[in-house]
Amino acid sequence: MKVVVLVGGVGGARFLLGVKAALGLPAHGAPEADSPHEVTAVVNVGDDVWMHGLRVCPDLDTCMYTLGGGIDSAKGWGRVDETWSVKEELAAYGAEPSWFGLGDRDIATHLVRSRMLRAGYSLTDVTEALCDRWRPGVRLLPVTDERVETHIAIEDPEPRAVHFQEWWVRYRAEPAAKAIAPVGAEEAKPTPAVLEALSGADVVLIAPSNPVVSVGTLLAVPGFRTALREAEAPVVGLSPIIGGKPLRGMADACLTAIGVDTTAEAVGRHYGSRKGSDEGILDAWLVHSGDSAEVPGVTVRAVPLLMSDVDATAAMARAAFEIAGVEP
Ligand code: GDP
Ligand code: CA
Repeated sequence: MKVVVLVGGVGGARFLLGVKAALGLPAHGAPEADSPHEVTAVVNVGDDVWMHGLRVCPDLDTCMYTLGGGIDSAKGWGRVDETWSVKEELAAYGAEPSWFGLGDRDIATHLVRSRMLRAGYSLTDVTEALCDRWRPGVRLLPVTDERVETHIAIEDPEPRAVHFQEWWVRYRAEPAAKAIAPVGAEEAKPTPAVLEALSGADVVLIAPSNPVVSVGTLLAVPGFRTALREAEAPVVGLSPIIGGKPLRGMADACLTAIGVDTTAEAVGRHYGSRKGSDEGILDAWLVHSGDSAEVPGVTVRAVPLLMSDVDATAAMARAAFEIAGVEP
């Protein structure tokens, strides 16, 4: 079975662990050569940023480290057993930005990536090369090879725009976002690999990732939404909002900025039905047990959606396969 999963960082990566488990693929390392299943993740690039001359791709790296067994699982991002000598040395120089921590081990990833990008390789190729080491067992595809960076309009007190990372990491999503813009999206296009994955999929899952700055940024790449709508495979989304709250992080601040309530129903309606509207992307929508949602044209089911461990997360993936009517 060919499974395509749309993902951001931490939430997306954890969900991918469950998808692999549901398909009987090993937690870490490449799938067995004879596995009949293939998982492709289409990953958000809107958080990507140049820092100290290095290209940092937080969501791609979170997926790669999580699936490759190198993640700091307590934090959910960055390398396990990380050290911070370079950060301390940069601080001693007064080198800005000082609010974004790059760990020593992590920096090696960014050095390899930046060198390859400067040599002319695409982000897709660079990611594949990095994954030679990590063997995530999932094909990790950046949605686009072009530069698309999420910027946030704030008033501080004067209006200005900051990179998503600055708003999220430095300001902890304060002050309020007045607008959220995927800068560069207009000139971007989905990669051929992404389009092929969508058209060849047996099922497409939308991870319980941030609907605005993870999934929303994928949808902002012109052509991606159409490709998703035209995919033959059923599309099933899983709600990142449980009991009116995001699980971790500040997705509510992002939803408020685009005028969507922080409820599973509002996010489901924001994604919309593939059948009804011209814009919708869902056939089915999973919400957490106890939550309810009415989304016109979309089959809704309530199942446990807490990714407390890999087994619970695998059950979420199985529920998504079931509602899609596909069987691994
Ligand atoms: P980020 O790029 O690191 O912010 O990660 P994602 O965008 O992939 O995922 C962030 C989203 O994951 C947040 O909006 C959370 O609400 C959601 N999330 C985190 N843990 C869980 C969980 O256990 N269950 C569900 N349903 N959503 C979760
Ligand atoms: Ca992210």
